[in-house]
Amino acid sequence: MSHQISGLAREAQHGAGVVLQRQPAGDEDEGTQMNEKHPALESKGLHLYYGDTHALCGIDLEIQHRQITALIGPSGCGKSTFLRCFNRMNDMIDGVRTEGEILVEGHNLHDADVDLELLRKRVGMVFQKSNPFPMSIRDNITYGPRMAGVRDRRELVDIVEKSLRQADLWEEVRDRLDSSALDLSGGQQQRLCIARTLANEPQILLLDEPASALDPISTAKVEETLLQLKDDYTIVIVTHNLQQAARIADSTAFFMLGELVDHSNTTEMFTNPQKKLTEEYITGRFG
Ligand code: ADP
Repeated sequence: MSHQISGLAREAQHGAGVVLQRQPAGDEDEGTQMNEKHPALESKGLHLYYGDTHALCGIDLEIQHRQITALIGPSGCGKSTFLRCFNRMNDMIDGVRTEGEILVEGHNLHDADVDLELLRKRVGMVFQKSNPFPMSIRDNITYGPRMAGVRDRRELVDIVEKSLRQADLWEEVRDRLDSSALDLSGGQQQRLCIARTLANEPQILLLDEPASALDPISTAKVEETLLQLKDDYTIVIVTHNLQQAARIADSTAFFMLGELVDHSNTTEMFTNPQKKLTEEYITGRFG
């Protein structure tokens, strides 16, 4: 089906960068290069309400390309809500209202012509509880590409291997690609979910406490995987584990009661916090 091409889409076609609008039929390259002229993600004066609950109170935050950014703060402070803004997942919740701007590589996500399906391919999400589909390991990975129209058997084989290698799972499953994903361990299932997301060729990965249900060895594996991926992807991770933020994040944003208290280089935040509230939180005085 042919679609109207918008000004933004045209600009992105020529200047590279994320394309969030459906392209005309025949243009298969829907923008897989990053456009680093703009921050990868940005919020400006962002407020979000769940009915009467004011969950985000005027958040201004820029997230840079090819870095891991951790979102930390006490439970209920708005970390997951903020994360979900960047692929418009909150839109699915009744009674949600937002004010302000949410931008992906400079594109306002509330522009009328943003294609949500494409947005969610480009900005992939991994959840706290791993959720492999009840099908084989191979079919979990090929599901997204098949839905996007990839039919070539060789291409699908390559996608399976590449995605599983990127998620550091290939060596563990290469001999049992046709067995059920549900037979994998919890940590392997979470890395499969990361691989499944990568198979859709996102540019940005959002992870909501991806290791909180895992044992320390599986957690270390997931962290290693994320560190390897950050050369090619922009990664934002919600974590309640401060040591995890300190181990893997380049920058850290500290939220409290729906407000952004602090955002800085992780090493600086953990060794020489500039704000009293940050210091109290990271030294365990509350939270
Ligand atoms: P965090 O991730 O920091 O634990 P959340 O983003 O989950 O915080 O929650 C922020 C606030 O929004 C909390 O007060 C929470 O109760 C509320 N909230 C989160 N999700 C919903 C929802 N689906 N419906 C109503 N309120 C919600």
